[in-house]
Amino acid sequence: MSEIEIESVETDVLVLGGGVAGYRAAAAAAGAGASVVHAFRARGASQYIFGFNVPLGHKDARDDPETWFEDILRGGYRLNDRLLVQALVEGARPALDELVAIGVPFARNGESFDQLSLSGNTYPRSVYHPDGLGPLAIGKLDEHCSAHGVRKFAGWKAIALLQDGAEIVGALLYKVNAPALLAVHARATVLATGGIGAIYADSTYPADVAADSYAMAHAAGATLIDMEFVQFEPTVVVHPAECRGLVMPTAMFGEGAQLRNALGDRFMFRYNPDHGEMRIEKARMAHCIQQEISEGRGFPDGTVMFDTTVVAPDRLDNHREKVKRLRSKGFEPTSEAPGVRPAAHSHMGGVQIDTQARSGVPGLFAAGEAAGGVHGASRLAGNGASDVFVFGGIAGRGAARSDLALEGRDWAAIHDRAVTPLRAVLDGAGQARPEEVKTSVRTILLESAGLYRDRAGLTSGLDRLDALKGEIARGLDARDLREAVRALEADNMVTVARFIVRSALEREESRGAHQRTEFPQRDDERWMRRVALAPGGQGGRVERIPLQGAERPNSLTG
Ligand SMILES: Cc1cc2nc3c(=O)[nH]c(=O)nc-3n(C[C@H](O)[C@H](O)[C@H](O)COP(=O)(O)OP(=O)(O)OC[C@H]3O[C@@H](n4cnc5c(N)ncnc54)[C@H](O)[C@@H]3O)c2cc1C
Repeated sequence: MSEIEIESVETDVLVLGGGVAGYRAAAAAAGAGASVVHAFRARGASQYIFGFNVPLGHKDARDDPETWFEDILRGGYRLNDRLLVQALVEGARPALDELVAIGVPFARNGESFDQLSLSGNTYPRSVYHPDGLGPLAIGKLDEHCSAHGVRKFAGWKAIALLQDGAEIVGALLYKVNAPALLAVHARATVLATGGIGAIYADSTYPADVAADSYAMAHAAGATLIDMEFVQFEPTVVVHPAECRGLVMPTAMFGEGAQLRNALGDRFMFRYNPDHGEMRIEKARMAHCIQQEISEGRGFPDGTVMFDTTVVAPDRLDNHREKVKRLRSKGFEPTSEAPGVRPAAHSHMGGVQIDTQARSGVPGLFAAGEAAGGVHGASRLAGNGASDVFVFGGIAGRGAARSDLALEGRDWAAIHDRAVTPLRAVLDGAGQARPEEVKTSVRTILLESAGLYRDRAGLTSGLDRLDALKGEIARGLDARDLREAVRALEADNMVTVARFIVRSALEREESRGAHQRTEFPQRDDERWMRRVALAPGGQGGRVERIPLQGAERPNSLTG
């Protein structure tokens, strides 16, 4: 360790994360006049964003901010933080205007935006681009950030936040696959490092998102909320095998696609009699599909059919990127239908924030999937992207206003504290390989805290995770800096898996993405409150905290 030098740079705002939340934060902070360092490993889940919800009423004039607000609460099983929902609803239109102003293209009908109907939404309200909005938005935001002097560190991963007493004053970065460490000293740090990542077997997350957000924030003293709510994307491709993990967009149901079981039944009408595949949030749809499969009405490979053959070819073109991917593997969606089943896909929980994206820890902001609270117990299709576009901007503007000073701190001691866990890994003499620990976590979580949970499974999952923690404490097999960083990742994954399992054990009811087989009912009397993991105790203290905000705001702009 001693021969690796730690270089340092100084900035007003450090943004961690190169997805949409991170890019929006970097652009907003620079726009507010702050100097910005933007560091990230790769592009995260945002590269897959197809569209996001804005209640413009261009496709259906009945849509308005109030209807969206109510949809979000209904879709979130009313566990949403109302103040955050209000900020989301009010921030979506200005975010769209800002994207248009920097040249992000959208599908249009003349001057109006084309808007797609996504599951759980009363009206068509997703603005989109047929080639996928995520990469197009990131491309334009990247140009914008460069033009405004943002210093970009692509391929760098934060391995620890820099802590001085109760304050966060930057982060320690590691250049991926190179023995280089960089300490970024910052008056404010925005954590936009995404969600739980591939912490579940069969997940749709890209490899660069690794549950770091929650572990780093909690270690810094932030409270985590709603960790039990893991969204399983209902329709993830299993067949054709070459496209395994590809998400078939629920937006295609608005174009006429249908779900059928092995008996040929359009089974969603049994669960959602009036609307079938439409107007049902994703968590519920995932449970319906799983029930069909578990009760023996699926195909032999444990799937149901996502029937694209009934969609008019010109409507399929609205999903060019998915269709292109299927065709590139020789699969023709106008004549054959993919086989799908649910897989872990996103997370409703995260760092508890206020409407300014402050984490409660001085100097630390969180945005996007790193933060929790806005979606409640389940997320409406298209709202994950609305969240990152809106709260990324809010976090960047808030961070630019930070009044923490950098002068007069003992930086050598701060660096030393940040590097201590790495040193401990390198000095250890354990046997277990970090990658083996990661594989074990993925299996344990899917088995114990998957779509359906119960006390026995969760307790046994927690025991197995505790055993892994013990193994990590005895030391992992890490011979160089690269392997030591992987060991820290494995440790973070176990830490976060324990947060999920402990929160799931605490909530003794079924709501949205959290289904306890021995408590099958939603229990508003006891559980209209959120499970929080506050700092302190062994791996955090489990608490129950009240919901914030009024059932309906007095007025909504949008
Ligand atoms: C396949 C797929 C399709 C989706 N489609 C849609 C959709 O159409 N509409 C919708 O609303 N939602 C969609 N979602 C959900 C949505 O993509 C995510 O909720 C959203 O992109 C999260 O954005 P983010 O900026 O918070 O995080 P991400 O986009 O995941 O970005 C996280 C960033 O942090 C970086 N990072 C992670 N750890 C570190 C670290 N320690 N140090 C430095 N950098 C780090 C990553 O490299 C990445 O740059 C989809 C998700 C997936 C997986």
